[in-house]
Amino acid sequence: MNLSYPITYIKGISVQRAALLYTELGIKTCNDLLNFFPFRYIDKTQFYAIKDLQPNSSEVQIVGKITHVKSVAQKRGSRLVATFQDATGTMELVWFKGQKWIKDSLKVNEPYVVYGKLNHYNGSFSIPHPEMELVTEYKKKLQTKMQPVYPSTEKLTNSGVSNKLMRNYIQNLLQQVYDSIQESLSQEIIDDFKLMKKRDALLNVHFPQSQENLAKAQNRLKFEELFFIQLQLLRKKLINKAQIKGFVFENVGEVFNQFYTEKLPFELTNAQKRVVKEIRNDVSTGAQMNRLLQGDVGSGKTIVALLTMLLAIDNGFQATIMAPTEILANQHYTAVSELLSGMNIKVDILTGSVKTKKRREIHTSLEDGSLHILVGTHALLEDKVKFKNLGVAIIDEQHRFGVAQRAKLWTKNTLPPHILVMTATPIPRTLAMSVYGDLDISVIDELPPGRKEVKTVHRFDSNRLSVFKFMKDEIAKGRQIYIVYPLIEESEAMDYKDLMDGYESVSREFPSPKYQISIVHGKMKPADKDIEMQRFVNGETQIMVATTVIEVGVNVPNASVMIIESAERFGLSQLHQLRGRVGRGADQSYCILLSSYKLSEEAKTRLQTMVETTDGFKIAEVDLKLRGPGNLMGTQQSGVLNLKIADVVKDSKILVAARNTAISILQEDSTLSQEKNLPIKQAYTKMTKSSKIWSNIS
Ligand code: ADP
Ligand code: MG
Repeated sequence: MNLSYPITYIKGISVQRAALLYTELGIKTCNDLLNFFPFRYIDKTQFYAIKDLQPNSSEVQIVGKITHVKSVAQKRGSRLVATFQDATGTMELVWFKGQKWIKDSLKVNEPYVVYGKLNHYNGSFSIPHPEMELVTEYKKKLQTKMQPVYPSTEKLTNSGVSNKLMRNYIQNLLQQVYDSIQESLSQEIIDDFKLMKKRDALLNVHFPQSQENLAKAQNRLKFEELFFIQLQLLRKKLINKAQIKGFVFENVGEVFNQFYTEKLPFELTNAQKRVVKEIRNDVSTGAQMNRLLQGDVGSGKTIVALLTMLLAIDNGFQATIMAPTEILANQHYTAVSELLSGMNIKVDILTGSVKTKKRREIHTSLEDGSLHILVGTHALLEDKVKFKNLGVAIIDEQHRFGVAQRAKLWTKNTLPPHILVMTATPIPRTLAMSVYGDLDISVIDELPPGRKEVKTVHRFDSNRLSVFKFMKDEIAKGRQIYIVYPLIEESEAMDYKDLMDGYESVSREFPSPKYQISIVHGKMKPADKDIEMQRFVNGETQIMVATTVIEVGVNVPNASVMIIESAERFGLSQLHQLRGRVGRGADQSYCILLSSYKLSEEAKTRLQTMVETTDGFKIAEVDLKLRGPGNLMGTQQSGVLNLKIADVVKDSKILVAARNTAISILQEDSTLSQEKNLPIKQAYTKMTKSSKIWSNIS
């Protein structure tokens, strides 16, 4: 039987049932069913002695005798309690339903095998509604070993598709196809990593003969799953490199060198130098660059972007940089213009608020090539915006843009421009491998010298007065302060009230004219927001009260205190981004996390992590552990969410091994045409035919 056949080919599966399995579980073919894995196992391979029971044991199997049965009255009705004993100790078996019938059928002082979920209460163990069988009966039967338990849905259960039935279907299928299950890895890999054969792995993941075999089976299947994802991503990258031609920037010429020697206001960090080198290498190969630049807030990505744009200009091309908000675009524009002042390079900015007349000017100068660098927001993506020859497009803070928007930049040219995506959201290495495995990744893992670490503390709301005092001291030193409030859709009305209450109490504590306060929130008109923001940027106000709109990218070096209200309600990456708003100047900066006393364990971990470290990658690792990959920025479109058996967090070692294996195989045999790689090729071809290659950025 062919594994691509629909499951109706399996004994006992009717057309109706197949339809149900498809709508409920997405199982269509025999192969789907074979790869529908149990989420847990009932382990009946082991017997426990009562003295060895642990409060955290889940299901246990015990041999012993009932010594005594009694009815115990409780609030509503009664329960039946049997005292159960083996040579090592005593526990209870308990029934709440069917008591009469059970009481009559229980045999005192005869050995039973009991099985069930263990409860631990007040120092004693019990099993409610155990499965039980007399040892004499138990011995007559052929014993199954570990039993798989499959994920199910209410609809399936109600339609009579029990776990037992699923088990039967899969058992039937395995019996029919076991011999014809094809190996999908090369013998070389199997030997190198001492992996179980594919067919045995499938058999053992469904019907393991022991814990040890189960672990081996899972390991093999995880490796395989991650290996083929990596193979796909890496091949996509290879193919892109080979097929998507890109502009060649041959010259590192006048403009780049002039800027580097005369204008660069500081020495690049080693990390920045390395990344610039990586980019220079990319744009000289003839393939299109598709690079993700990760660098923590304040690590100095802007200068890397600028140098990249100068490379394009040196080779007769234009460059663009796109930011997610108007404020950010303005900051980039200002920074770039200042850095390039005195050089013969024309820079302009295009955002939604640019007037029509100015807009036309920009369009014209873009099309005739006299404009070298265009900074902007998504207004850049409008059809009317046409470049003469766009050589490189830089996208800041990538997670704010959708995939479709990024793709649109491509269509602005005959050849796609080189793409550099910059993000300040650190993604743990293993996750980046899965999500962005087909992109090249650069990391700036070093902050410019002289940066003082932001001192972070956690305070309860009741300490507010001392926080106010601290603020006054800092303002007296000439510093500026952010106070940030959470704002989420579900509790928007309440959140606005908190913000306004907070603003009022801050206004009372910091009265004008001595103190000036800005306020920015989502209900304000963009123009008003900009004015308020600008007042703070210019130093006209000392305090900025805001919702999370300031999260991304704003640069006010004189702001040295970040106060986060209801900090327990923010996610880790958000807290980290917010803290990144301070610590940008020469002064010691502070981050104060205010929270109530009522904190969940997770919230405690988040706040503690923030207090303990300022390393964005460490924070991202904790975030990944707390929330799983699905909630991290940028992972939404990725295949990591659809993993069947592997887990990018827990199985990171296997992931690294699988990726390295895929790399070395492709290096040696990029088309998988060597004899020994035939099993891989066949499996790969089948896989790519049935599933779309993971969608990815740009
Ligand atoms: P981000 O990576 O968050 O975009 P920026 O590019 O805005 O960071 O840089 C943050 C600040 O650090 C800027 O004021 C910038 O001028 C400064 N900076 C960047 N690189 C260096 C360096 N190598 N030495 C000193 N200061 C630097
Ligand atoms: Mg930036």
